Amino acid sequence: MRLVLLGAPGSGKGTQGEKLVAHFGIPKISTGDALRAAVKAGTELGKKAKATMDAGGLVANEIVIGIVEERLGQADAQKGFILDGFPRNTAQAEVLDGMLKRLGQPGIDKAVHLHVTDEEIVKRLLDRAQKEGREDDKEDVIRKRIEVYNAETRPLLDYYSKQGKVVTVEGIGSLEDIFNRILAVTR
Ligand code: ADP
Repeated sequence: MRLVLLGAPGSGKGTQGEKLVAHFGIPKISTGDALRAAVKAGTELGKKAKATMDAGGLVANEIVIGIVEERLGQADAQKGFILDGFPRNTAQAEVLDGMLKRLGQPGIDKAVHLHVTDEEIVKRLLDRAQKEGREDDKEDVIRKRIEVYNAETRPLLDYYSKQGKVVTVEGIGSLEDIFNRILAVTR
């Protein structure tokens, strides 16, 4: 099972991704988590990425592509994986397709689109800001991330539609219901 999770910030990719990990026994690769870990550890890569992340922009393609390439080459990713937060623009998607070929892996099976309205997104992220205190969960940065999503990431729906791989799931409801919807469309 090789899945890409698509959806706006706060659409639930991380949460549903974890449930998919438990269900399928394959790893989740989250570029956002990897970048936050690098920032926290104070690595060179983290230093390069921090300002962009705090402003809600996209980190340079080379950086995130490097992260994903390394992770996809590891043993536990050979049977399948769930990508959360990557690809985030068409260039990354094209690189991913090439990377899988080069690594001798089959292509992506499905791109699961978690659909949630902008209004609900803002509400969720502001709520998360209170609980987790993420630097980029401030209202102006949230608006910026939604803008970046619409401009850069939304076109991936077209990209994967052309490959016949997009499945859209309503991202509102109980976590269990949403998860079952995802399972129903990835079978
Ligand atoms: P969310 O989906 O909630 O916005 P993520 O945890 O996926 O959050 O990403 C947080 C930030 O990390 C992004 O706003 C961006 O700056 C950076 N980032 C994560 N993945 C990518 C990627 N594939 N390409 C570029 N930047 C990325």
